[in-house]
Amino acid sequence: MDKIIYMDNAATTRTLPAVVDEMLPYFAEMYGNPSSIYGFADKSRNAVNTARKIIAESLNTKSENIYFTAGGTESDNWAVIETAHAYKSRGRHIITSKIEHHAILHSCEYLETCGYDITYVNVDENGTIKLDELTRAIRPDTILISVMFANNEIGTIQPIWEIGQIAKKHKILFHTDAVQAYGQIPIDVERYNIDMLSASGHKLNGPKGTGFLYIRDGVKIKSFIHGGAQERKRRAGTENVPGIVGLGKAAQLASLSMDDKIKHETKLRDYIIEYVTKNIPYCRLNGHLINRLPNNTNFSFQFIDGETLRVMLDMSGICSSGGSACTSGSADPSHVLTAIGLPRDIAGGSLRLTISHETTMEEVKTVCDILAETIDKLRNTSPLYEDFMKR
Ligand code: PLP
Repeated sequence: MDKIIYMDNAATTRTLPAVVDEMLPYFAEMYGNPSSIYGFADKSRNAVNTARKIIAESLNTKSENIYFTAGGTESDNWAVIETAHAYKSRGRHIITSKIEHHAILHSCEYLETCGYDITYVNVDENGTIKLDELTRAIRPDTILISVMFANNEIGTIQPIWEIGQIAKKHKILFHTDAVQAYGQIPIDVERYNIDMLSASGHKLNGPKGTGFLYIRDGVKIKSFIHGGAQERKRRAGTENVPGIVGLGKAAQLASLSMDDKIKHETKLRDYIIEYVTKNIPYCRLNGHLINRLPNNTNFSFQFIDGETLRVMLDMSGICSSGGSACTSGSADPSHVLTAIGLPRDIAGGSLRLTISHETTMEEVKTVCDILAETIDKLRNTSPLYEDFMKR
């Protein structure tokens, strides 16, 4: 394959060679089942527990509060659906935001079919949740607030500390989907008063199909996957030992390099934002200018069909996205761009470019130049643009 420039790190990341190296012995050499009692299985059990400890320390919690899952979707489903079931005698009302990932939104829709009442709180034009609206939504029967740490499409980081304080004051459980934030920015579950947190390995240079749910002790959550007694009887199924080892290694590397990564990605991100907003007319930056993930940029271009733009960038070797990888292929505008108030035609001309610590300034400059040329080409063949310019 010809060289590509990968600018879709919010969809997934490259599994780092150091992560793969750490995983490999757990396929064919140390393949014991962590639940077995003989010495050979100790190696697998210890490896799982080491990964658990690394992750717990990265969040400022205890190892016992980390439960391995098969990814962000499972963690989100588990957190929302099974706390709802566990606390239904206290109430059946849940608060979330309009810009959550579908792993949360569809879990909430499922709960609605089971008789739960969900409030979907609005966000402002930058994608920040409206805290006054969230506070007003609280009722005596509210059992859970679930708000994402950072948005996967527009990168806006939510006021998590404030939400944690609101939840604490009203004695409501607080879950956050930190799939895009964990490993990218520092998270301390104690400081933020987070009761449950979802994360996914493949967003932080770990393997796909791995993740975890942090559950504060004392939270009564039911099991989502039923079977054996793994994960302290809360998540059945033989552990994905190589995957968990890889997730632990990725978490360790992310923690160790976080400051440098943030510095590097922020510099590249800000270059893209400045270049695009200065050099490409009729364009809008989506998401918060400051409270934003270091690796995320998202723009809407007027008089541009986003799908065509992405195909043309692909022909130039650039991997980009229109928003969530999970909704690509859908003709509907993204629910996130709709929630921040973009009209359908503007939302339709959107592009997400997400970088990593491995992205270089040279790549970023190449992408910016190709993007400007491509937009120019597309607009020059657009009757809508021609009409607009004649006015
Ligand atoms: N939540 C958010 C915010 C995400 O961005 C994603 C994936 O894109 C998920 C949940 C789902 O995670 P996974 O792909 O590990 O199931």
